[in-house]
Amino acid sequence: MMSHLQGIGMTSQRTRERMIKRLSEQGIASNKVLEAMRDTPRHIFVDEALASRAYEDSSLPIGYNQTISQPYIVAKMTQLLLGSAGHLAKVLEIGTGCGYQTAILAHLVDHVYSVERILPLQKKAKNYLWELKLKNISFLYGDGHLGWPDYAPFDGILVSAAPAEVPQTLLQQLAVGGVLVIPIGKSGQQALQRITRTESGYDVEQFEPVTFVPFLSGKE
Ligand code: SAH
Repeated sequence: MMSHLQGIGMTSQRTRERMIKRLSEQGIASNKVLEAMRDTPRHIFVDEALASRAYEDSSLPIGYNQTISQPYIVAKMTQLLLGSAGHLAKVLEIGTGCGYQTAILAHLVDHVYSVERILPLQKKAKNYLWELKLKNISFLYGDGHLGWPDYAPFDGILVSAAPAEVPQTLLQQLAVGGVLVIPIGKSGQQALQRITRTESGYDVEQFEPVTFVPFLSGKE
């Protein structure tokens, strides 16, 4: 059990350290983010056959036509979400997937509310996150277009699938001062955005081009 979490060879702590070094060379400056990624075994979130590739800077298949985002993107989005705010209390995540991004968030904020539309993926994620003893996470099986109104407003919302346009419901579920980090655009023309809710409206910042799976409607 311990050795599964710790990893050996290509899944060892040393391999993870190399990933952290690469991330900081790629411009990830937040020590909090780097530490959370150093402390989180990424290899347990993918199938055993792919475990040796878990610390490469690439996305990997997690089944059901979905992918675990590449480490750089997880780091970048988390860093954008934390911004200059020292501390976030409630964060909504849309697209639990395998739960890796959820684990990183759970290290950094008080509570993560995570929504997923594919039930078997949600089940897998729950198991992995349980194994890591992360308890500050609530899961919802549902369509992320609706957010999670019961727990709104959120200090941060992170979306890991790309809609063509910003879902209005998610904007409405942001607290004033809260930030939404989201890939926006059709396949081949997506870019990361950070949208901050102000007293009077929303500020939009554009970041790099990205490649995400589409933000879909309904449940599977
Ligand atoms: N952060 C995840 C990314 C998984 S890929 C990880 O690291 O594993 C994107 C995920 O978003 C998929 O699991 C997909 O099913 C989910 N998704 C796409 N559209 C959604 C929607 N409308 N509501 C909830 N989840 C959605």
